[in-house]
Amino acid sequence: MTNLTLPGFGPEPPKDMDSLKKQAMTCTKCRLSETRTRVTWSMGDLHSPLMLVGQGPSVTDDTTGLPYSGPAGEVLDAVLAAAGLSRAMIYLTNCHKCVARQKNDPANVRSATKAELSACKEWLDGEFQLVKPKVLVCLGAAAAVWLLERAFDFEKQRGEWVQGPFNTRAMATYQPTYSTRIREHDPEKADQIHRALIEDLKKAAAALG
Ligand code: SF4
Repeated sequence: MTNLTLPGFGPEPPKDMDSLKKQAMTCTKCRLSETRTRVTWSMGDLHSPLMLVGQGPSVTDDTTGLPYSGPAGEVLDAVLAAAGLSRAMIYLTNCHKCVARQKNDPANVRSATKAELSACKEWLDGEFQLVKPKVLVCLGAAAAVWLLERAFDFEKQRGEWVQGPFNTRAMATYQPTYSTRIREHDPEKADQIHRALIEDLKKAAAALG
């Protein structure tokens, strides 16, 4: 993810998180604004050295305005706890802030397009500039490919440290719900993924020193 000057903010970083959030709440920079209930903003410690970034809001998040507020959030809370972390210790956000609904099945989400991600980059850049994390964890392949550049190979590089945006030490790990989705068909692999996700989060916590 290339670090760009923030449109609307000039060469200076945004003033504070409240003003950044206030502007984002009414954002109509991409078509996701047409189908959202509300903008899903971030949560957690605004001064945390550890930032976790998922791909985008779930349908539940679209109603609460909070990231990882539905079933995915329950899994995230469990793996954070297993790694000795909690939401209060991290800064949690998403690459895009409005739910990306499937056109013919609005109860389910789709991957955001590059145009939608690019439009929303202004807000995420602002969050990076204000929080100034040392360590970045990308939750899932889509977030990793967007944040760590498109050449990132999730299968080969998951759990490895790489250079991230805004001078972060970055790592990609599994999307919290991935193991849940495959458990019915492949419980053994689901267990492996769940354990790997916890180990990755432990590494991220340890990297903070
Ligand atoms: S997804 Fe981001 S850029 Fe698109 S409307 Fe929502 S806040 Fe704006």
